[in-house]
Amino acid sequence: MDRRELLKSALAGTAALGFPSLLRGQGDKLTVIDGGGTNVVAFSSTDGLVLVDSGAPGNADRIVAALKTFAPNGKVTTLFNTHYHLDHTGNNEQFSSLGAKIIAHEHTRQWMSSDYWVPDEDRYEKARPKAARPTETFQTTGTFKAGTEQIDYGHLPLAHTDGDIYVFFKTSNVLAVGDVASPLRDPALDYFAGAWIGGRVDAMDIILRLSNEQTRIVPASGPVMTRAEFKAERDMMEEVRSRVWKRTLQGDSPKDMLEAGVLNGLSRTWKDPRKFLYDAAQGMFAHHNKLDPAVI
Ligand SMILES: [Zn+2]
Repeated sequence: MDRRELLKSALAGTAALGFPSLLRGQGDKLTVIDGGGTNVVAFSSTDGLVLVDSGAPGNADRIVAALKTFAPNGKVTTLFNTHYHLDHTGNNEQFSSLGAKIIAHEHTRQWMSSDYWVPDEDRYEKARPKAARPTETFQTTGTFKAGTEQIDYGHLPLAHTDGDIYVFFKTSNVLAVGDVASPLRDPALDYFAGAWIGGRVDAMDIILRLSNEQTRIVPASGPVMTRAEFKAERDMMEEVRSRVWKRTLQGDSPKDMLEAGVLNGLSRTWKDPRKFLYDAAQGMFAHHNKLDPAVI
């Protein structure tokens, strides 16, 4: 095991166990904190702390404690939200009340600003309180400098929701990609927000174009990934897209697809394949016009 492999396995191990893991880019400036089963990326600079996502509800104290260890005098100035889901925005209020601005895609702000229907659970989710909502939004891309670090961010359309973004710590070569990568959990498609497999593959291609072999890719939950691991997940998703599309054209239901083994022989297994195929099929129907103009 060489140094790089050792570091990689250490990162994977610590992230999975929920201990802070240090990414040694330009000095020890970046870490991944367990935000209650989801990742919180913390970047420390002379201009303050920049976070990507705020963890699951009820984990503010442990996140703040981890940040104190990481950067004892650090103040969170900027918090990104990779998308609107509660398990990644659950402690937004904590950081905005301490003066942080919250940057997100405009669609994320819209989801968080009104009640919305949760089809899986047959209920409405309440709008988030004002203090939890993004204070600065964008449509396509943005960039700024924190200390010596260049931070680029941009939209990943319809990959997991309609407001997914990446946050690229370019100088340290670390890319936070939210739930667009899913090394442990089942890849999720929030079809109600417009997400679908084609959007997911396109978004993963954007990440591949932005990155190089040394880039470390941080998913919304699970271990830090190498670009090769991320590429393998992208290729697997493309295979799933192609299989599900063929079955959709034949008129198969998600149940038919499952029974026909549409997810068999892949590099991963699903914990809830039925839900994934249902959501995937819903997304396919919504976007069929983008796949084949002959389909009405
Ligand atoms: Zn999510």
